[in-house]
Amino acid sequence: MDFVVVPVPVFPPGRCVGCHSSQGPLVDTLVEELVPTGRVYVCERCVGEMARLFGWSDPEAAALRDGELRAVREQVEEMRHVVDRVARVAKVSLEDARVLARSGAFEEE
Ligand SMILES: [Zn+2]
Repeated sequence: MDFVVVPVPVFPPGRCVGCHSSQGPLVDTLVEELVPTGRVYVCERCVGEMARLFGWSDPEAAALRDGELRAVREQVEEMRHVVDRVARVAKVSLEDARVLARSGAFEEE
């Protein structure tokens, strides 16, 4: 099924099937219905509501989460370098440091 985005509805009834808005852009489903007659369009707002029903997220919120995730990854990478340097100074391998950390040797009493 191929949908297209159009700036304005061209064919009757010239409105969104969900909210009856004729303000574009709209998705032209290219589907023609006989009752009621006309082309089936869906406006951007209704597409957003439908997408959220399927678990899709708002592009701005997704971009914000991507930015936060990138910052956390950078912090993790920086901490890896710090731990690696500390392990080298302590003359233990990173794996030895991991084993020590898992052993509870650094737990506070
Ligand atoms: Zn709509």
